[in-house]
Amino acid sequence: MPLVTTTEMFKKAYDGGYAVGAFNVNNMEIVQGITEAAGELKSPVILQVSKGARAYANHTYLVKMVEAAVAENPEIPIALHLDHGDSFELCKSCIDGGFTSVMIDMSSKPFEENIAITKQVVEYAHDHGAVVEAELGTLAGVEDEVVVEAGNESYTKPEEVEEFVSRTGCDSLAIAIGTSHGAYKFTPEQCTRNEEGILVPPPLRFDVLDEVVKKLPGFPIVLHGSSSVPQEFVKMVNQYGGNMPDAIGIPEEQLRKAAQSAVCKINIDSDIRLAMTAVIRQYMTEHPDHFDPRQYLKPARQAVKDMVSRKIVNVLGSDNKI
Ligand SMILES: [Zn+2]
Repeated sequence: MPLVTTTEMFKKAYDGGYAVGAFNVNNMEIVQGITEAAGELKSPVILQVSKGARAYANHTYLVKMVEAAVAENPEIPIALHLDHGDSFELCKSCIDGGFTSVMIDMSSKPFEENIAITKQVVEYAHDHGAVVEAELGTLAGVEDEVVVEAGNESYTKPEEVEEFVSRTGCDSLAIAIGTSHGAYKFTPEQCTRNEEGILVPPPLRFDVLDEVVKKLPGFPIVLHGSSSVPQEFVKMVNQYGGNMPDAIGIPEEQLRKAAQSAVCKINIDSDIRLAMTAVIRQYMTEHPDHFDPRQYLKPARQAVKDMVSRKIVNVLGSDNKI
């Protein structure tokens, strides 16, 4: 099948009590690792591209690689999505260039401005067969060019969501309930430590999610910043010459619970970066004489595939859902 929008994916995910993973792509090995995992597990998948990824890899290269993945996995519904679009022009350029879905993130702007620009993107997207994710509330953390200091984040206000969705016409809504971008989602001061000295983050605000769902029954909700930063990979990075003290994520069981609710899309990026880097660090340390990039990118690609498989089965529940 050709690239699809997320409309049908989200309807099935909502009704089926699972979520579709949205994984960021930057190069060939990442595209292959993600889609091989989705193909083997018969899972729908969203490949998403940030503004930074587009600047790094070039729009045409990314689209053509995703088209190759679609051709290699004809049974799997695959959507191509712009992550954190920051202007109408960027969203338009991606829609014109073959994306089936865009996010317009005006969450840092005042409510009325967020509505006005989101509505403009929705009108263009719907006229061109694409769908739109919008955002209310602000996540802490760092994602490419989006930087929000801890303490400046704000939870989504449930009393705003109904008016926002009806006035903009957006197709899905990203909300802030305590997830966060990056591999350092919380400061040690925000956390407790378990008996092994590992940071334990504050729990997600499921009460906020429940209030949002009451206001928007049947409407697909999106969670950003939902990597779990598995400690075995942090340890590997640190063991093989890296330095990532106190890297911390969202526990997978909390995300699993979210996936069973109205949350239909869960964004995972840092865990892929972490797995690739850990494996490459290990490889380089163990094979100091090797210099063919294929030698270390092959296990790195396998690490992406393994991480995505783990997410599909343990967190998203989207296996065998095509
Ligand atoms: Zn995000």
